[in-house]
Amino acid sequence: MDEAIAKGAQMIAAAQKILTFTGAGLSTESGIPDFRSPGGIWEKYDPSDFYFQKFISDEHARTTYWEMSREFYSVIKPASPNRAHLAIKTLEDRGKLLAVVTQNIDNLHHKAGNSPEKIIELHGTVISVSCLSCKKKYDRDEIEARLDSGITVPYCDDCGGILKPDTVSFGQAMPQEAMERSIRYAGQCDLCMVLGSSLAVYPAASVPLHAVQSGARLIIINREPTPQDGEADLVIRMSVSEALTGMLDLLFA
Ligand code: NAD
Repeated sequence: MDEAIAKGAQMIAAAQKILTFTGAGLSTESGIPDFRSPGGIWEKYDPSDFYFQKFISDEHARTTYWEMSREFYSVIKPASPNRAHLAIKTLEDRGKLLAVVTQNIDNLHHKAGNSPEKIIELHGTVISVSCLSCKKKYDRDEIEARLDSGITVPYCDDCGGILKPDTVSFGQAMPQEAMERSIRYAGQCDLCMVLGSSLAVYPAASVPLHAVQSGARLIIINREPTPQDGEADLVIRMSVSEALTGMLDLLFA
């Protein structure tokens, strides 16, 4: 494994424009469960209850959604960035980071101090809520306070429309601008690092493929195999925070 860490460090040293593509595995060490690992969210809830179409058409589905979402938010809100998030911040400080494209909705890249303009949240964020009709935006904690007071499903103050956290549900359109920027950066980077993602969720998982097709090298650090391991120059199956700190220690310590 030391050899793989050394190879990764060399690849980072040689790179000037790194794109990190991060998934739920980056944040498990901050205490936020991923979806597919044992003990993950899909062991507790049925994903089909959370389709966007169900959410907009069925009050009962909205009640279940808000229950799950509140439980998840109560874990995310107090969470702090871990060594893996901080390693990505170091890459930015060292002038090597082109962008962080994240599937995570947990706000931890912002908390780690990466520049907001370098962070692309492909699946949105839990920290705000929007009206699906008039697009009015609410702070998440304001909505949480309403739910604490006994309301089970919140609606818009202005137009009565359906409120939903600013995260992308199954069956909901991806934020177009974020997807376009991600693909653009994937075409510009010289090294793409997939960090803690099963690469099972599309279209997000097309970002590293696009980087490879544009000539970038690819490192995948994930505990389990991914469908893109065959495309990678280096695959490391271990804790992403251990692997990244190992590499950065070799480079910058
Ligand atoms: P995923 O759950 O499909 O895959 C996570 C992968 O990370 C797994 O293969 C797992 O083996 C690996 N992993 C877990 N902990 C690790 C660690 N410490 N070191 C190395 N590998 C580790 O997650 P995904 O690919 O991000 O896709 C799932 C979707 O779930 C995304 O769309 C995302 O929006 C959402 N999600 C986000 C969060 C979050 O914001 N923190 C949490 C759960 C799910």
